[in-house]
Amino acid sequence: MIEVNQLTKRYGGVTAVNGLTFTVRPGHVTGFLGPNGAGKSTTMRMILGLNRPTSGSATVDGQPFARRRHGLRHVGALLDAGDAHPGRSAAAHLWALARSNGLPRRRVAEVLREVGLEGVARRRVGGFSLGMRQRLGIATALLGDPPVLLFDEPVNGLDPEGVRWVRGLFRRLAEQGRTVLVSSHLMSEMENTADHLIVIGQGELIADESRTEFAARG
Ligand code: ADP
Ligand code: ADP
Repeated sequence: MIEVNQLTKRYGGVTAVNGLTFTVRPGHVTGFLGPNGAGKSTTMRMILGLNRPTSGSATVDGQPFARRRHGLRHVGALLDAGDAHPGRSAAAHLWALARSNGLPRRRVAEVLREVGLEGVARRRVGGFSLGMRQRLGIATALLGDPPVLLFDEPVNGLDPEGVRWVRGLFRRLAEQGRTVLVSSHLMSEMENTADHLIVIGQGELIADESRTEFAARG
């Protein structure tokens, strides 16, 4: 469970996130919707403990700054289409993360298979398309088998088959009882993906409702 309470972030004169309060429950795919610049990435970075709130709080299973403290076993995330070093192979990138997080080496082969990159595991990430980098970022998020997963604009760069695959993945993760938060700037991406929608604009909450409630309101 993710709990965001009166969360606010200012960069100088810019208020990126303004008093956001919402909860993300396990067992659902929760869509985090808003136009570019609405504050989605900033909110996710604060949930991950990568950015410090100006005020308010974000907690994961009751604790702040989960990623720093617990590593990939607790919270997995895809941010900015992953951050793998271009000179490294996909497998080497994941091995390094597995080692530093005390995860078994076999997880690398498992997640590469899960995201469909097993055939290119030894290739340099620098030669990957955006869609392949998204898949690698998703593999990174899955590596620690975490109960809480955040995906920032995961669909960018994926082809239609990739989009169907990633939707099925989010569904399976939720059915396993995990907490799944997926951001997008496109409602059309969310309507077939999310059970629940949190909509923000200019850093403020606009809606927090089930997909059916959202669809009924139009
Ligand atoms: P979204 O993910 O919804 O596109 P962001 O969280 O990236 O939105 O950005 C929200 C606002 O905060 C934007 O106005 C953006 O320009 C600003 N912002 C984000 N990161 C920084 C930063 N490091 N320094 C200054 N302004 C930032
Ligand atoms: P259980 O749900 O009984 O605890 P596991 O969590 O080990 O069992 O995994 C159940 C299924 O989900 C397996 O097919 C496994 O490969 C897959 N799986 C495990 N961890 C993840 C993960 N983080 N993301 C996606 N699928 C996973």
